[in-house]
Amino acid sequence: MAAQCRHYAMCKIGYLETGLCPAGVEKPYVSYFPQGRMDLCHALSKDLLEITPALVDIVRSCTLCGVCDLQCHFVTGMRPMKVMRELKEYVEALIAEGGEVADIAEDEPLKRLRAIVGPDWATNDPAILLTYSDDPFPLAGPRMPRYVVLPGSRDEVAAVVSLANALGLPFAIRGNGGSVFGFVFTDGIVLDMNRMKRIEIDAGNWSASVEPGVTSFELQKEAFGRGFRVNTAEPAATVCGNIVCTGTFSTWSNVYGTAADGFIDMEFVDRSGKVFRLNDKSSPNVFAFEKDVLPSPGICTKAVVKLQPVTDDEEGILVPFEDFGEAVRFARDLGRRRIGLAVAVLGSHYIANFLSPSKDLANRLKKALPDVLGINYAVFIVGDRFARDSIRKMAGTVIDSRLLRTLMLGLPKLLDGDWLDLVRSFEGGRPPYEVLTRPEIRPLLEAALSPSPETIAGSVDEDLRNLYAELYARPEMTDMVWLNMFRIVSARMSRNKHMFAFLIYVPLDGGKIIDEIISGFARIAEGQGLEHDYGFLTPMDFGKRAILEYDYYIDHTDEAEKAKIGRAMVEIDPWLEGLSEKHKGVLFLKYVFSQGCSRKENFLYR
Ligand code: SF4
Repeated sequence: MAAQCRHYAMCKIGYLETGLCPAGVEKPYVSYFPQGRMDLCHALSKDLLEITPALVDIVRSCTLCGVCDLQCHFVTGMRPMKVMRELKEYVEALIAEGGEVADIAEDEPLKRLRAIVGPDWATNDPAILLTYSDDPFPLAGPRMPRYVVLPGSRDEVAAVVSLANALGLPFAIRGNGGSVFGFVFTDGIVLDMNRMKRIEIDAGNWSASVEPGVTSFELQKEAFGRGFRVNTAEPAATVCGNIVCTGTFSTWSNVYGTAADGFIDMEFVDRSGKVFRLNDKSSPNVFAFEKDVLPSPGICTKAVVKLQPVTDDEEGILVPFEDFGEAVRFARDLGRRRIGLAVAVLGSHYIANFLSPSKDLANRLKKALPDVLGINYAVFIVGDRFARDSIRKMAGTVIDSRLLRTLMLGLPKLLDGDWLDLVRSFEGGRPPYEVLTRPEIRPLLEAALSPSPETIAGSVDEDLRNLYAELYARPEMTDMVWLNMFRIVSARMSRNKHMFAFLIYVPLDGGKIIDEIISGFARIAEGQGLEHDYGFLTPMDFGKRAILEYDYYIDHTDEAEKAKIGRAMVEIDPWLEGLSEKHKGVLFLKYVFSQGCSRKENFLYR
């Protein structure tokens, strides 16, 4: 289990409002959070770590409070308390048996780093370094840094960079420690931004200023509490990190935009330690885009981002489709007509995993959606009441927020054979999902599914059922707007295996190129025997372009699977390159990586 930690850092945010690891809050090195403890346990099991002062401190700081068990189970299905207990018992037993605690000497560079950030916030203890040395990315090996530093201010960042240059040490930046692509490793200094967490909301100016340790979840919570929304990405990812890396794309990007659309100004420390702001005319031009893999403009130390308005009549709605092309055309039409806020075309894999609190339920739902209900795809939209009226007129059949709540809370019973047989018997030449949406069926549905927090909680381990029932009693846990805005269920995609996501910008005016990309990814995955599935498609710039995600799933601890993805990449790179040369608007996200501050027009309309 320890080796299976996905590093999505969901244990580093209080996304269930059930508390946060107290040890991690006190000392925000990733090593003190459950994620770091999983890595430490795995390293000890492989004899890769001696007993060090930090290891003893980390182990003893765990109160076995149990907070991480529910947090991790909610998205991955794992129960990390077993690991936390084992880790504690194992290290304590080693010490009791006379195991020596290694003396980790402070060398000269560390002394100078500590002079900048304070004695607690720079270390060379291997127990801490190890948790900054690797991630589940299958195509790179571990790299142990020499130092980990947690700066507390922009000036400290600049001073650490200047010192690193003076010492000739390379450095890497880590936002929230949720690393999955092998980009945040170095054999020099890792700067972890987790102490820089200030948020300032300027409601009158529709803006929020954030430091680089602020996560999407934290900013969204703050903004939402003040009646706003921010276009953010994965909840545990940092806001600054996401802008710099990918430009932040989300289901809201159709109307809120992406890349330079999202921010008003940003502050950086460059590689020489000099501070600059993007709105200063003498600053480097990061708004242009170059189709190349480039380094980031520097270390972002502040971003001033846009706040978006929220109306009190927003709701989510799902429009089911049997055919992918029809779903894409519908999403594009919404964009052209400027209807709705968030828009995405989801497949049965995503829908099933988002809605299901257990792996078993997700697998059964994934099968039942197309086989029984005829739902191969659904266009998900958030809209106000005017948008929803239009969507109903355009689509005919919709799953509204009330029906989705019923289906979600009654999911275990929906998948009962009897009820599904009943749906089959209603068909009459129409798609079976239409049966579910008929008003006259609602009372029957309510009676058959007994939708309740207790019903859905019945699908998880017995000892977790009360906690799940409490969670699902909260209205936001079945509210499509809230769930989409905070994105807390998206990490469920990797419940079976670690996800290797491919993201491609595509034109939305002709379906053929999208079909070609999807079938290409499927063909390459099949050729290597890799699990794979369509992810999602989100219109961009009011339906003129879109971003498409296709996912491969791998066990990152399995050498054979690593080799398979390595061989797949050899095919994928030139194939996508060829498509990009041939078709306007096709661009692999890897080129936008680190150019997330650029104007979207410069890469969407090359
Ligand atoms: S059990 Fe230990 S690791 Fe888990 S949240 Fe509590 S203190 Fe943190």
